[in-house]
Amino acid sequence: MSEVVERQPKPPFNLPAVILFTLSTLGALSVLPWYAWTHGFGAGAWAFFAFCTAATGLSITAGYHRLWAHRAYSAHWSLRLFYMLFGAMAFQNSAMVWCSMHRVHHKHVDDVDLDPYSIRRGFWFAHLGWMLRNYPSGEIDFSNSPDLEKDRLVAFQHRHYLAIALGMNFGFPLLVGAACGDPWGFLLLGGLLRLVINHHCTFFINSMAHYWGRRPYTVQNTARDNDILALFTFGEGYHNFHHLFQWDYRNGIRWWQYDPTKWWIAGFSALGLAHSLKRVPEFKIQRAMLQRQFDRTQARLQRCGSPRRMAVLQKLLEQELEAFAATVNEWTHLQGERFDAARKQLADQWENSEARRRLQVLEEALRLQRQRVRLLRLQTA
Ligand SMILES: [Zn+2]
Ligand SMILES: [Zn+2]
Repeated sequence: MSEVVERQPKPPFNLPAVILFTLSTLGALSVLPWYAWTHGFGAGAWAFFAFCTAATGLSITAGYHRLWAHRAYSAHWSLRLFYMLFGAMAFQNSAMVWCSMHRVHHKHVDDVDLDPYSIRRGFWFAHLGWMLRNYPSGEIDFSNSPDLEKDRLVAFQHRHYLAIALGMNFGFPLLVGAACGDPWGFLLLGGLLRLVINHHCTFFINSMAHYWGRRPYTVQNTARDNDILALFTFGEGYHNFHHLFQWDYRNGIRWWQYDPTKWWIAGFSALGLAHSLKRVPEFKIQRAMLQRQFDRTQARLQRCGSPRRMAVLQKLLEQELEAFAATVNEWTHLQGERFDAARKQLADQWENSEARRRLQVLEEALRLQRQRVRLLRLQTA
């Protein structure tokens, strides 16, 4: 019996995006090597390339992403102006459109119909394909971003996006290049090559960071932590953490995790140009990691060969789970005390109080428990 499969017609091409990606890729593969062969690039052009790569990359990660899409901190107008100009130079649409879509991505992550760049529709779709056609999942709806409509710099950029983006991609490199005596070299490296590299590095966060890496905090979605990817994305490779705690200004939370965006934000905070940096309480982070460890250990126990050994380890695991529940309960209770104190405007006193010391003890208890559960899991091998 044959089945008639009804094929959905593909949506029409998004011509501006197709033209942008085709021309920039072809230019980087043809004009750029030809110019390098016939004229060569000087140190000034390479320095300008490095500056523009960092400025546009950070404007997307620290500006578009962590400041505007997630409100992870507040920034002085001069810093927002920088993000507005160099974010437009990244040619990834206006901050209004970018952030609105990104909020939809977080809300409906992995949903085939609602997530605009769902990895479940394939690696290529999540990386670039979603922009090449006018898919219904990519329809823009600003109802989730009234805060951005009120931001005058964001609204200005949205109104004049094409002019600013073209001016920053052509006018800016040509002007600086002319002043340094090499306008075409500056345009090709700081404009063209930087654009193509910056595009794919950002797009890797939607594709690779939902595909390759570990999941230490949650398996509720496909987002991954990946140290290698962090090197190419200004620290956005710690995507598993980010999807669980999206409003934290950090993605790589440990001091050794490469996250230049968090150092950039912390640096401007020290200079007084950024404030209200949001951080997830350490206890919540430890709690998420421990929960993952329990799940993994439980799964390993099911595969344990010896029933007697399994029974002993299962009992130990249950004791750990009980201790975990007790610690979490105490922490919840302590948070209640904290909010009460804040309501009575006694937060300062609370910070210095016995309760603060108790919180630190609870955080330490979870850390120690993680070590014990790790050992327990090793015994199941
Ligand atoms: Zn994501
Ligand atoms: Zn995000």
